[in-house]
Amino acid sequence: GGKAYSMMVRCRIPGGRITSKQMLAQLDLCDELGTSTIKITTRQTLQLHGILKKDLRETINRINEMELSTLAACGDVNRNIMCCPAKRVGGVHDEMAELTDALTHALAPQTPAYHELWVTDPETGEKTLEGGGPVSEPLYGPRYLPRKFKTGIALPEDNCIDIYTQDLGFLAVVRDGKIIGYNVLVGGGMGTTPALKRTYPALAKRMAFCTPDQAIDVAKAVIKVQRDYGNREDRKVARMKYLVDQWGIEKFRRAVEEYFGEPLKDCTEDEVTGVDDHMGWQEQGDGKLSYGLSVENGRLYDNDQIRLKAMMREICTTFGTEMRMTGYQSIIFTDIDPADKDKLIEIIKRHGAPTTEETSTVRRWSMACVALPTCGLAITESERRLPSLIDDLEQPLAKLGLEKERFTIRMTGCPNGCARPYNADIALVGKAKDKYTMFLGGGWLGNRLAYIYKDLVPSDQVVDEIVAVAKIFKTNRNEGESLGDFCDRIGKDDLLGMTEASE
Ligand code: SF4
Repeated sequence: GGKAYSMMVRCRIPGGRITSKQMLAQLDLCDELGTSTIKITTRQTLQLHGILKKDLRETINRINEMELSTLAACGDVNRNIMCCPAKRVGGVHDEMAELTDALTHALAPQTPAYHELWVTDPETGEKTLEGGGPVSEPLYGPRYLPRKFKTGIALPEDNCIDIYTQDLGFLAVVRDGKIIGYNVLVGGGMGTTPALKRTYPALAKRMAFCTPDQAIDVAKAVIKVQRDYGNREDRKVARMKYLVDQWGIEKFRRAVEEYFGEPLKDCTEDEVTGVDDHMGWQEQGDGKLSYGLSVENGRLYDNDQIRLKAMMREICTTFGTEMRMTGYQSIIFTDIDPADKDKLIEIIKRHGAPTTEETSTVRRWSMACVALPTCGLAITESERRLPSLIDDLEQPLAKLGLEKERFTIRMTGCPNGCARPYNADIALVGKAKDKYTMFLGGGWLGNRLAYIYKDLVPSDQVVDEIVAVAKIFKTNRNEGESLGDFCDRIGKDDLLGMTEASE
């Protein structure tokens, strides 16, 4: 018999905004053609796993029928654009959502091949939806980009989309309640190959300011610079971060200005000052409420104890409102009437799911990538390991009085960095079988890279290592100092000395 090839199918869902109807259709898809689970990703979209090759066309057809797409969710083009998912009526959030949609449209590949290949009737071979557009690619050219390209839009007081990890970031500059423009950041990216010194994670750098009217053309200019000057010989160093580093930000900016057609202004002083994960109840400003539900590792499944898919279905059919996926693999239910608060919580509890209020702080802020058994690049466990690791951490942290301490633990099954580990307070990156590289000292705001604290830490020693650091933090921190700031201030060598001395 032939091999049964199976695929991962990832959607493009700009800013993570999805209707109840679309969510129900996605749940149907994962039950009927997938592996009966679906994952909310770190880029605010949904991934189906285990789609058999023979079912691929039907899957993609159905995704297009629900008015979503998989176009440009993968590949060497601009990927799913991230944007703050909070619902706030009549303000800067609407302006950011509009820019997200406009950019998604403007930066999409123009080829009709996607529709010709995928969006056809499997029986008759006829197009079921209109494709179209010119065959030429004015933006990407015949060879597309040297590597994938990621874009995100954030507010200074709320960097929930991790703007410094994006190839291209738009940081809103707000005056008198209006967005007057964006500080444009370029050259972030997480992926590395540890054996290759020439590869490294990088934070995006501040380049220039643009007005809302200029944003799309500035994005195109940045993409064209990377298209024409990015490294096409060596895929390992083809991300735009290497070009930005090699040239320096001034030269890169001049090239962007040349493609854009005029000089840009310097960035304003506006910088990232906060992060909000939008979990729990939040006011929308129109009398309605949003509820952010922390979903562990973004995984929706049903088992004997917890039935997250059934819960989602009931919420979709009961409320029928829009949902927003967050950059932390969680979900926000929007447009809830204050009178329906208890009803929503009752549905969540009846399905055995912990509410956000019942979820520990450490679990709420943790993230894991897919890794084993599904991701072909995985070296270690990640999504299947992190929940038990957190189980084992909760008590020791509570004993230290750190149960309300906000820090991020991010785990990945390989150095590719899909859960954005390298700017987290604590990161565990799969390095060898059952062994992780442990990083410390990233910035809570996402604006500082972590350092390697210990390499090749066996899976069963990871909790002890974290608890040892937490103890030192507890006794030596300055008032109000975050775990990441503390580890950065003390530094690797002193921290190693302190943890060894306390053993
Ligand atoms: Fe796979 Fe590595 Fe990405 Fe995890 S970080 S999903 S193991 S590629």
